[in-house]
Amino acid sequence: MRKHIVAGNWKMNNDLAQTESLITDLKSQTRTSDAEVMIAPTFTNVWQAYQTLKDSYIEVVAQNMHFAENGAYTGEVSASMLKSVGVKTVILGHSERRAYFNETDELLAKKVDAALANDMRVIFCFGEELSDRKSNNQETIVASQIKNALFHLDAAAFQSIVLAYEPVWAIGTGETASPEQAQEMHAFIRKTLADTYGESVANDVSILYGGSVKPNNAKEIFSKPDVDGGLIGGASLKAEDFYAIVNAF
Ligand code: PGA
Repeated sequence: MRKHIVAGNWKMNNDLAQTESLITDLKSQTRTSDAEVMIAPTFTNVWQAYQTLKDSYIEVVAQNMHFAENGAYTGEVSASMLKSVGVKTVILGHSERRAYFNETDELLAKKVDAALANDMRVIFCFGEELSDRKSNNQETIVASQIKNALFHLDAAAFQSIVLAYEPVWAIGTGETASPEQAQEMHAFIRKTLADTYGESVANDVSILYGGSVKPNNAKEIFSKPDVDGGLIGGASLKAEDFYAIVNAF
């Protein structure tokens, strides 16, 4: 059966002292739900975060990685480097990576392969832009993003894939997809998986929703049958807000 997951994507926020302080606050919170909890600090603070949290249930994950194992890729970080500092899960394909760093489906397919080859779990992000939704193309866009980056994989690989549907128009904007819009898209995503890999693979993949999830809307969004958790940006930077979301299941 698929898991509930709440992951905090800290993006390019929090220096070392702020990371330590937020982790202290997170540790003082109580989890009352069954959600797996993850945080994604920036690369420079991953090791410190891992050291502080390694005996807890909070998993430290990475926001990105390169597909190459090592070599002349100035400024980049590889899967094996992440593993060497305790990271077992990586977020790939975030819309900010796609928009500002030109990450294409083709590149993301290579990153997914590299992560899986290193026995890492992938949180794969995708989602339509506002113009796609206005022209009612959201399902076509989402299906192509998933197929182009993931459908070369075999069924077993999906045990290591978490999907994160993040409509670009809802990220950091305060605008959320309605719970009904989220459910409709998540059901479509699961059907797209089922059509190629079968029902049982599709039913076991956790599909997270991301885009302005807050303490006041998490419960309703998470109540939808195909929404298995959230990828949380802004609201993951305050421990009380983040735990209100963790505990919304
Ligand atoms: P947000 O970000 O919660 O601030 O909208 C979500 C994300 O980018 O993962």
